[in-house]
Amino acid sequence: MSIVNDGKVAKILKVLGLALVYFLAAKWGLTLAFVQANATAVWPPTGIALAVLLIGGARLWPGIFLGAFLANLFTAGNVLTSMGIAAGNSLEALVGFALVSRFAKGPEALRRTQDVLKFGLLGGLAAPLVSATIGVGTLALAGMTAPHQFKDVWITWWLGDMGGALVFAPPILLWNREQWRPGKLKPFQVLEGLGFALTTGFVAWVLFGGWSFLSIHNYPVHFLLIPPLLWGAVRFGSFSVSVVLLFLSVVSILGTLSGLGPFHASTENESLVLLQSYMGVISLALLAMSAGVEEQKRAEEDLRWSHSDLQRRVLERTEDLTRSNIELERQIREKGELARGLQESNEKFHLLSEATREGVVLSVSRVIVQANSTFCRIFGYDLKEVLGMEADRFVTPEFRETVKRHITDRHEKTYTAKGLRKDGTVIDLEITGKNIQMEGITARVTAIRDVTERNRQEKERLQLALLVETSADFICTAGVDGHMQYVNGAGRRLVGLSLEENITSKLHQDFIAPQDIPRLMDEVIGSLLSKDHWEGEFNLRHFQTGAMIPMHFTAALIRDPDTNEPLVMAAIGRDTTELMKIDELSRSNKELEQFAYVASHDLQEPLRMVASFTQLLARKYKGNLDAEADTYVHQIVDGVKRMQDLIFDLLAYSRVGSDKQPFGAVDCAEVLRQALSNMGDSLKENGVKVAQGSLPKVSGDHDQLVQLFQNLISNAVKFKGSRPPEIEVGSYRKDGDWVFSVKDNGIGIDPKYFDQIFEIFKRLHTRSEYPGTGIGLAICKKVVTRHGGHIWVESQPGKGSSFFWTMPVVKGGES
Ligand code: ADP
Repeated sequence: MSIVNDGKVAKILKVLGLALVYFLAAKWGLTLAFVQANATAVWPPTGIALAVLLIGGARLWPGIFLGAFLANLFTAGNVLTSMGIAAGNSLEALVGFALVSRFAKGPEALRRTQDVLKFGLLGGLAAPLVSATIGVGTLALAGMTAPHQFKDVWITWWLGDMGGALVFAPPILLWNREQWRPGKLKPFQVLEGLGFALTTGFVAWVLFGGWSFLSIHNYPVHFLLIPPLLWGAVRFGSFSVSVVLLFLSVVSILGTLSGLGPFHASTENESLVLLQSYMGVISLALLAMSAGVEEQKRAEEDLRWSHSDLQRRVLERTEDLTRSNIELERQIREKGELARGLQESNEKFHLLSEATREGVVLSVSRVIVQANSTFCRIFGYDLKEVLGMEADRFVTPEFRETVKRHITDRHEKTYTAKGLRKDGTVIDLEITGKNIQMEGITARVTAIRDVTERNRQEKERLQLALLVETSADFICTAGVDGHMQYVNGAGRRLVGLSLEENITSKLHQDFIAPQDIPRLMDEVIGSLLSKDHWEGEFNLRHFQTGAMIPMHFTAALIRDPDTNEPLVMAAIGRDTTELMKIDELSRSNKELEQFAYVASHDLQEPLRMVASFTQLLARKYKGNLDAEADTYVHQIVDGVKRMQDLIFDLLAYSRVGSDKQPFGAVDCAEVLRQALSNMGDSLKENGVKVAQGSLPKVSGDHDQLVQLFQNLISNAVKFKGSRPPEIEVGSYRKDGDWVFSVKDNGIGIDPKYFDQIFEIFKRLHTRSEYPGTGIGLAICKKVVTRHGGHIWVESQPGKGSSFFWTMPVVKGGES
């Protein structure tokens, strides 16, 4: 079945239901019809019909029609009259419905006083005019009522309908609206309700019960109905009032019909008309009143509600505020604690970090947030500058990645890096970092040590140890108890001990030649203890061969700097075997020099004699001897001459060492002039050009320097090439030395002879090619060496030679 059909069936059922109820109510009403069978003073259907249409809608009107039709049909008249009356009843309900819906808020009509009054006026008074008029008209047309009865029938009809509308519609409308909920009642309300019901019942009994003289005597005491109704209106609301009115209405009808109560009139119809009018009016008044009371209650309720709502909202808001206040306080407290915590941890950081000699920094995401004073001192920054700097700025660029990696990977191992101070200096660092959790943040604490000095000392110690270990000298230490502690490599080799040999079991005397052991005890140890120092000759003993090794020793007693108790004896000894040889050599050298000098000096005189007498012989006997004898004489003269030259040069050579003058300020320009002038005409004869550059003043032996220049220039002339000699003399400064040069354009020298030519008697040519003794450059070298310099040559055969030598620069020596 479709929904539409569902709706239709429900409607039909509703219509039929309404028809049935209408029919029954109408039948009951019509039992009370006294003036005419179809016209009654009690007509509940009007109220039922109006209420049902207002609640269920106008479309239910066929139920009214059907109910009315059937009720009338089974009461009196025919189908036509019944239809006419039913049409009047239906129209009455529709008109009432339309008017009340339009002007009195429809089913809500009984909620407000003004609507109650409009309901009474339109639904109670106006609409029944339609039914009464049509109904009475129908009856008149059908001839079912006499014309003189028209008025009475019409009034009965109208008032009956009015009573029905005002007494029977309200309970239905209000029932629908009230949503009766007994569960809401309090015990006191139940008691009061009971009291109210009893009172009402009592009043009904008093007025219409027939047991009271009041009801029997028909006194006009209908006002007694008002108090209980007022009670109901004030205390129990419209619905209760409407129910009580219905009850009283029924009771009063039954009572009145029995001749009881205040409404007893001359006829039953009159009595009922009066009663219905009274009940209709009182119903309207009390419903209006109770609506007013309810309105007021509602207003009060609304007010109370809005008041309590306001209160509730204020309370809620207050709660909110309290909550947020508590939260705020908590936050403030937390912040305070946090701030205090931070300050405390700051203070702790400073306290702790200042107590260490290491630089300590706290960084978050590689940015420094705290640093101690040592850190600032290590890097030469102020604390203000340090804060906010990135951690890797404190190392040299090549270590920045290392630092970042350690921080990122949370390495905790100590590592080294080169630190960069503010002033740009580089220092050695040892860094240890550790990640910690602070207030939910990962921070890194880094301890930094400046190990530059430690490294330097270590390096120094290492170098020292290396120096000691690799020294050619015998170096050892021994405890004050005489046990050896250390002997260096050279020392072990010297006495025939391997490097692996454990020497700590040996005593110092084990190293000493037996004959020197008493001296060790008396002389050496005695001197060490009294003067902390001893120096002298001493013989060591070779462990394998037992051979004596002569040594020169310097020994010292090293004391503890704090307690001054002797700690250790240290000795450095030099094998004097070689020294003794060198000494011997230089001594014999000296003797040789002495001999050469004496010999050359002393040989000069006899040689001069031999020379002069041979020359005399040659001159005097020239031509008297045979040619062979002349040749011999000539050769003797030549040999003597050569010997003279040799002796002269040799003497000059040995004089460099023996005839030396103390150094004085020497102007090299003047020295050159002197040398050139000494050479006399030979320069002119050979067409020599001398170019002179700037020459400085030096500290030296004037005569020897003249000889140096003269030897070099005369060689430049002697070893000239095919072109006339051109000689350049000059100097330039290099570092702390003057570099002098004598350059020529002569025959040049093969580089392989560069070293040889400075040796005594070393010549590259025969005497027949170039005269000479081979001593000139040896003298030059000796002079230069004596003046603290060195001499060398640069040359190529055929391209001239350049002789260079150095001499130390002296203050004010610039040329
Ligand atoms: P001497 O000049 O008496 O030979 P020197 O000691 O002065 O002895 O020189 C040694 C040798 O060096 C010379 O014999 C010569 O061969 C070479 N020598 C020296 N000076 C020059 C020069 N200016 N040019 C070429 N060779 C030279």
